[in-house]
Amino acid sequence: MRCSAKGCRQAAVWVLRWNNPRIHPPERRKTWAACDEHRESLGEFLTARGFLREVESVAAAGGELGGGGIDGQ
Ligand SMILES: [Zn+2]
Repeated sequence: MRCSAKGCRQAAVWVLRWNNPRIHPPERRKTWAACDEHRESLGEFLTARGFLREVESVAAAGGELGGGGIDGQ
């Protein structure tokens, strides 16, 4: 699993779970993968928009990942 940051080729260590309340039902979770370097910038991006719900390690997430862009595609 690779980091979701644009242009980053590093292996992901973190899973950021987020939800855009404008387009997603409350229980829906989108997931982004992040390497150590991008965990903060991706997290800040989601936090600034009020989207971030949970952050956990890839190991804790069991490698399960949906992916998808910020607009839900
Ligand atoms: Zn990265």
